[in-house]
Formats: sequence, structure tokens, C-alpha cells
Amino acid sequence: MENKITGLHHVTALASDAQKNVDFYAGILGLRMVKKTINFDAPDVYHLYYGDETGAPGTIMTFFPYQGLVRGKKGKGQLTTTAFSIPANSLDYWMKRLQKFNIEYTKPQERFENETYIYFEDNDGLGVELVANNNDTRKGFTYGQIPLEHAVKGFYGVTLAEESHERTASLLTEQMNHNIISQKGNLYRLSPTGKPGDFVDIIADPEVARGLSGSGTVHHLAFGTPNDKVQLEVREIVMTKGIQVTPVLDRQYFHSIYFREPGGVLFEVATNDIGFAIDENPETLGEKLKLPAWQEPNRDSIEAGLTTIELNTEKFMD
Ligand code: ZN
Repeated sequence: MENKITGLHHVTALASDAQKNVDFYAGILGLRMVKKTINFDAPDVYHLYYGDETGAPGTIMTFFPYQGLVRGKKGKGQLTTTAFSIPANSLDYWMKRLQKFNIEYTKPQERFENETYIYFEDNDGLGVELVANNNDTRKGFTYGQIPLEHAVKGFYGVTLAEESHERTASLLTEQMNHNIISQKGNLYRLSPTGKPGDFVDIIADPEVARGLSGSGTVHHLAFGTPNDKVQLEVREIVMTKGIQVTPVLDRQYFHSIYFREPGGVLFEVATNDIGFAIDENPETLGEKLKLPAWQEPNRDSIEAGLTTIELNTEKFMD
């Protein structure tokens, strides 16, 4: 039977400076900006999407850059680290590249067998990892400033900081077709597929302080589901847990439902079958500001209220 939840879809986080956000994710990490649009709930704020060439589910990192937003605090009840997958032999390349752009990183560490990672933070303090591994068959994307053989392939997984693992793991295993695939001390790894790109690591630590929302923190974690029909089935199944779930919302590039998991992290379930080519040519994704049809009449005032951002790949060449 096909999984109702297919794996990770996207991670959405808060930032304080749109241009610095573009420079870090598209410039330094070399992700493709696959969509430049606005926060549908706050049209004076960008919604920037980064991913692989097409913005495939499991590669999509998105941001609401509220200019000047106060920093949050990472902690319990949050997704604290987003890990990206790189080829097994690419760690040296990336450490040199991060040095070049004055980004401090931790020394390489092993978490589970055959995966070595470094941790660093973006301009707002958001936790990011690059995980070198040899079992990711995806291809990655480059604008040309990073050789394709070292390019990021999409997510490796995410880490949730929780008081304890039981309730979150129970929701993921019983209602969202994940399995616990590894465990080491208070670290539990869950996945619906067992593949890089889909790992949800729960670190259970009651001593950690609760997180506070603000720039440098994650707003929500989205899982993928095949289509509208299966999404409604997931909605029913999650509600059997006594969890309140929003109605389906139209996010233009996917349809979404949202609910808070018992540990406090906002979860979304997004459909996989629409994607970013619905309103622009796949070759020129992310180049123009795209607005949902209902905001098109307000384009002039919306554009006037947004800061100009540019992707200068030349600046980020090796
Ligand atoms: Zn979302």
C-alpha cells in the first residue's frame, strides 16, 4: 500500500533580512530559489522557497523574512536543526567553502553509521547541518558556483527537540506511517521510507528550555502526501487522535492542513502533486515575483512594500 505520508515536504522558518537569506541559501549553500512570492497571510512579507532544480518535495526550505524581526530562541517544542544531504566525499569541499564565507562550523561528528555531519548557523542563528553520506541517490542542483559532484541533494532530515519522545513518536508511527528505524540514547530516528531526505530525529530532553518564536527559528514542518484525496484521509486519521486540524488551505503550489503535534511543533501535511511550475516556466523558476490570483490586482502596492532582493551568483563562485 502506498504511504499516505510520503516523507518530508518542506521546512518553513523565520528570518530577519531577505537579502542575507538569499545570500546564504542560494549563494553559499547553492540551493535554487524556486519561488519568490509573498506570505499569503501577510502580503508585505516575502515567502522565499529554495530547493533542488524543480523544488521537489523533500528538498524545499522556505522563509518568511520579516525585516528586522527579533531573534527567537531555539529549544523544546521546536524543530531545531534542518540537515541537508551531501555526497560522502564532499565534507572537505564544504568546510573550505564555509571558511571562505566566514561561517563557523563544528568539527565533523558521526551520528549513526555512515553519516558524518557538521553543524553551523545562518545569519539569524537557524540550525543547519550538512550530512555526508553515501546512500542518497538524488542528484542535487547547482547554479554553477558549486561543482555538481558536491552539490546539496535536498534534506537529509530534521531534528525535533522534545520533552520526551513518546507522544510525538506515537502520532508519527500510528497516524502518519513512520517507523522508528534507529535509536541511540535519547535520540530516536523515525522515517516512513528509511531514505535520506525523510528522517525525523527526536531528541528527548526535559532539561532543555522551551523555544521562543522569532528569527532563526522554524515556524513549521511539512510532510508530503500524494494528493487531495489522500490528504483528506490523513486529516481524518489525525483527528482520531483528538488533535484539531485546520481545513484544507490553498497554498498555490500545494494544498495544506496544519495541526500542532503533542510536543508543540506545528506540523503541516502538503500535497505533492502541484509544484512550482504551475505559474512559471521551469527554466526561470524564482526569477519574478509571483502572486496568487487573488493578490494580482494589488501587485503595485505589494511590490512597493517589499525590499528588492537579488541573487548574485558571481559573488559566490569558488
Ligand atoms: Zn508550509
